[in-house]
Amino acid sequence: MGWQIAIDGPAGSGKSTIAKGVAQRLGFKYIDTGAMYRAVTLKAINLKINLEDEKEYQFLETTKINFDGLDILLDNVNVSQEIRSLEVTNKVSLPSKFGYVREKLVALQRQIASNDNVIMDGRDIGTVVLANANLKIYLTADVTIRAERRMKERLETNGIVQDLQTTIQELLDRDYKDSHRLISPLTKADDAIEIDSSDLSIEEVIDKIISLVLERGYRMENLEQKNEQLEEEKDVKDEVSTVEEEANVEGKEEEEKAGKYRELQVVMGTVVDVIPAQEAKKINKKEIKAKEEKVLIELEDGQQGYLFKKDAYGLADDEELFDRFVEGDKVEVAIKKIFPDGGKFVFSTQLVEMKKQLAKYEDLVKEKPEDRPIITVKVVKNIPVGLLTRYEDFSCLIPKKPKSLLNIPEEELDGLVGKELEVVPVRIDYSRIRIIASQAAASMKKSREAENAFIQQLEVGQVYDGVVKNIEKYGAFVEIGNGVEGLLHISEIDHNRVFKIEKVLNTGDSVKVQIINLDGKHIGLSRKALLPNYWGDYIKDKEVGSVVKGKAVDIKEVGVTVELAENVNGFLPKSEFSWDNDLAINDCLKVGDDVEAKVIEIDDAKKRIILSKKQLTENPWSNVSFKVGDVVEGTVAKELAQGFKVNIGNVSGYLSKNSLRNRAADSIQLGEKLNVKVRVLEPENAKLIVNLYEHEEKVEKENYGKYMKSQEKISNTLGDYFASLKNKK
Ligand code: C5P
Repeated sequence: MGWQIAIDGPAGSGKSTIAKGVAQRLGFKYIDTGAMYRAVTLKAINLKINLEDEKEYQFLETTKINFDGLDILLDNVNVSQEIRSLEVTNKVSLPSKFGYVREKLVALQRQIASNDNVIMDGRDIGTVVLANANLKIYLTADVTIRAERRMKERLETNGIVQDLQTTIQELLDRDYKDSHRLISPLTKADDAIEIDSSDLSIEEVIDKIISLVLERGYRMENLEQKNEQLEEEKDVKDEVSTVEEEANVEGKEEEEKAGKYRELQVVMGTVVDVIPAQEAKKINKKEIKAKEEKVLIELEDGQQGYLFKKDAYGLADDEELFDRFVEGDKVEVAIKKIFPDGGKFVFSTQLVEMKKQLAKYEDLVKEKPEDRPIITVKVVKNIPVGLLTRYEDFSCLIPKKPKSLLNIPEEELDGLVGKELEVVPVRIDYSRIRIIASQAAASMKKSREAENAFIQQLEVGQVYDGVVKNIEKYGAFVEIGNGVEGLLHISEIDHNRVFKIEKVLNTGDSVKVQIINLDGKHIGLSRKALLPNYWGDYIKDKEVGSVVKGKAVDIKEVGVTVELAENVNGFLPKSEFSWDNDLAINDCLKVGDDVEAKVIEIDDAKKRIILSKKQLTENPWSNVSFKVGDVVEGTVAKELAQGFKVNIGNVSGYLSKNSLRNRAADSIQLGEKLNVKVRVLEPENAKLIVNLYEHEEKVEKENYGKYMKSQEKISNTLGDYFASLKNKK
């Protein structure tokens, strides 16, 4: 079995990029197990099986999954691109939870890993697949940073544009599913080393893993060095001192530019020899360059390196190395430079000391990031990788990537040189002997403090001029000051019911609001509390039956709109205007006229008042003194198309022209008094039909004989009618 590295971690933590980089540097085989679960998902989708049903994955018995370099082949077809689709990504957690699927893939993964040096990434590599791996890494990163990386990757590989919030949610969903499934959930193996890559570059993580590999005994000469800088160094490895001089001048910045990084290792060595300085000279026409005095030190594993005077800690100007170092001395040295292929190390005791001193700042990064103190640093230089500053005797870098550490625009950075800046320490970078800090965290912390101070002084009843920040279906979020937002619930926007917030408020609008409740950071706001409550004020002393006054503001066929108070209207339907249905509203009322009416309905939810004018007067039909068959005197009030309207007492009846017989219709005069006989009387429907008395007998027989009979059965007098209604009940 070869050397095995297991990398696990949540989606988007950078596993595959890091694993690929490490594989390339070490010459290991890289196995992306996530791609294998994705390939299974892709095939399941193509086969249109029910992805929720474990039994349906039997197709795996005859499915071939293997790798061709970095490409994945599904049944001999390269599907490297297709398995990254959103559909596969969203569904991959389904097959991953099934024991049958995992068993198949784990067996395959172990088989692929069996003969080579491998680096494998996934969710269960350190815990299940390669439980005996030589090195286990658990890679994490802040979810926002993971989402940003995922969005960038999608955009670059598939051209998919997705917003941050959706991506964060997608990752959280997948993390949750991956870590809560029953079989092989995503967990950190007990012996795994956790690396949080939020604040580290890809190269930094790769370097860290490589140094862990070295620490675990993987021999350096096996490394396939791809590092450009080291390639260069190869050429000059015989003349270490010359390289050293150059490195001192430019090395640090060069390395910084390239973003390269190597964990500073401190190891124990034994002094083998102190080699005196050598002046430049010519031997047999051959130039021999001057060489500095140096100490040759050997490590336990036999590898050797030099310590030069400038790297020796605490050496006085007039002291020489041989004053301090004697053959056989045990000495703690830091590896300052590594040369591959058997070249000698460059050691430093100065760095060992600085590293020790740097440890005094460990306390600064002990707390959770949000609890760390804000420190004040002085800006030294704006360099490509970040803003170089100084904190006490050490340098402090505010990296430009990820963006979340420095949120000052690039064009303003040069102007900051020489000025003070508040930052929050992120970590101690022992490899470069410096502190890594975040200016963004400090400014966020300060604004949080301001927010909290603002929230502390809030009280129910306070009124603020706010700005609408965001609109949801259920309400609008309104900033009332110092970045503090409260919820203006849809029911608190207006006294009138609001159906769509955007019809009243839009993002960016100013709005006056009052605090109506406070629960920690949850602030309930109301806009309507500050608006006049026309309806509520008007209705509070009204009830059905109240007599109210208003002005007619609109007259239509169906009824009259009456303004009862400012912004409060009532409606007077035509049917409630008069007991006399023939009356045309327009004949009695004009817009602007005063109207007195009785409230007959109040609908608080719909803010609707229905009025009746006729109910202010007594119903003339309720005390009609005659009955069907009676002969009464009527006065012709109006000629209608097919008959006449005849007033009898307080009510009116209908006299059909067809029933006149011996009297010509045009001989009937308006105002003429006629004797009529009551044929039909329905007070509840305000219906009265009469005939001219003179012709009663004939007409009765010819036209109304049958109808009469039924009418007479139903009612004779009004008393009979009401009695009959009672009996019906
Ligand atoms: O790594 P990647 O995001 O491509 O993995 C896709 C999915 O495959 C994961 O979300 C997880 O559900 C599943 N997976 C797994 N075990 C592994 C690797 C991946 O369950 N070892």
